[in-house]
Amino acid sequence: MTIELPPLPYADDALAPHISDRTISFHYGKHHAAYVNNLNGLIEGTELADASLEDIVRTAEPGGLFNNAAQVWNHTFYWNCMSPNGGGEPTGELAAAIAASFGSVDAFKAQFKADAVGNFGSGWTWLVRKGDGLAIVKTDDADTPLAHGHAALLTIDVWEHAYYLDYQNARPTYVDTFIEHLLNWDFVAANFAATSGV
Ligand code: MN
Repeated sequence: MTIELPPLPYADDALAPHISDRTISFHYGKHHAAYVNNLNGLIEGTELADASLEDIVRTAEPGGLFNNAAQVWNHTFYWNCMSPNGGGEPTGELAAAIAASFGSVDAFKAQFKADAVGNFGSGWTWLVRKGDGLAIVKTDDADTPLAHGHAALLTIDVWEHAYYLDYQNARPTYVDTFIEHLLNWDFVAANFAATSGV
């Protein structure tokens, strides 16, 4: 089984002007594709050749295999965390759970922004299930909640390649734009519902 590069859930220019098709052409077409190609090269002819992507991420030791597998998974998850019609507010049980863990949706947004802006170097900022509630966690490089047994609900990629062509060094503007114009709350709610009672 070859690991596939999943199609984007929208057209290359659908997130413009917030994320340009030029960024997508490099971030999806070059970076994400390279992780897929690298991973396939690493598992070809090994006992992992038929393993699922999730199983590889959960079991790989730190190193190239883990880094490429996790980056494939992280990026696929990230594309789905954005929508051309994103932004707005969560509703229903998800909104209630966010309010219970962070005080309010606005307080969550402020904390998520602060953590994403403060995530030093290359990495990811996540909303995950943790214990009985929700938590924001930051991971470095390729690291992912999937490797730590935490169900991911939302992520933002804060590697410079995610925003540099559109925002240069202005990571706070990228994070604000992600939250206000791109965040796909329907996807977060679906992840929340799928992991209820787990
Ligand atoms: Mn990336």
